[in-house]
Amino acid sequence: MIIQKHSHKHIFLKITIDIVLVVIFWAAAYGSCYYLNTQQIAQIKNQADSSRIITQKAIAAKVAAREAKKKEPVYITLPGAQKIRAIVEDYLLPSSMWAIVSKTHPIPVDYTPASLKIPDVDTNTSKSELERSVRSDIAAPLKTMFDQANAAGYQLMIGSGYRAATLQASYFNSLASSVGEETANQSIARPGQSEHQTGLATDISMTSQQCYLNECFADTSDGQWLVNNSYKYGFVLRYPKGKETITGYQYEPWHFRYVGIDLATALHDSGLTLDEVWSYLETALNTLKSNGAI
Ligand SMILES: [Zn+2]
Repeated sequence: MIIQKHSHKHIFLKITIDIVLVVIFWAAAYGSCYYLNTQQIAQIKNQADSSRIITQKAIAAKVAAREAKKKEPVYITLPGAQKIRAIVEDYLLPSSMWAIVSKTHPIPVDYTPASLKIPDVDTNTSKSELERSVRSDIAAPLKTMFDQANAAGYQLMIGSGYRAATLQASYFNSLASSVGEETANQSIARPGQSEHQTGLATDISMTSQQCYLNECFADTSDGQWLVNNSYKYGFVLRYPKGKETITGYQYEPWHFRYVGIDLATALHDSGLTLDEVWSYLETALNTLKSNGAI
């Protein structure tokens, strides 16, 4: 009886020990697996995080480089002139301050500047209000130039500023009917080929109308002052003497075009016309476009 009791106890203890061992073994195995899994997950997570950071940094660097390229200044150096910074505009548009409008570079006949105004200077009151207007953004530099001319003792006025293509057509047809189209086209542009349509060109004369739209204006002290000083205010004599075959027009000492002080100064210093430097502007424009600035 005693032996049997002892035997039961012994078996019970053995089973208990076995269970405890199994539990310990299982816990150890599970614990090590759990530890390894956590380690691996953390490692994978770290790798994913660092590769995401690298990708984000690479994208940010590319965006920054592209933005820097867009802002990169583009310069133009005309012969005999200081280098100037190219304005960030599409010069092929008639709204550009550097647009070229000529027999070879016409603009759409329905183009109208976004904003026009009569500048606060003397104007030829026999002309319509529209024709006495210029593009609003050149009214101020025009006034500054006229004020300076006035301070120097000259009395200037605007004869003609903005001209719609329809008005240009009537001027052209009127002259062409008496002298023929070819001769008329030496002094008057066809519709779509006149700078006046951009609102950036003005025909300037003396308030006395002495030598009004006449070559003799070049010999007056007013005309001389203009040709020697207009560039300081952003205006250039667009159809100079001796450049008739390049510009396509007769000498017009009264016709001034606004291009901004930088380009006007470079044109003045180089002695070149807008037609002659157009290739320089085109090159700058293409660079601006490839840089993504336009
Ligand atoms: Zn003109």
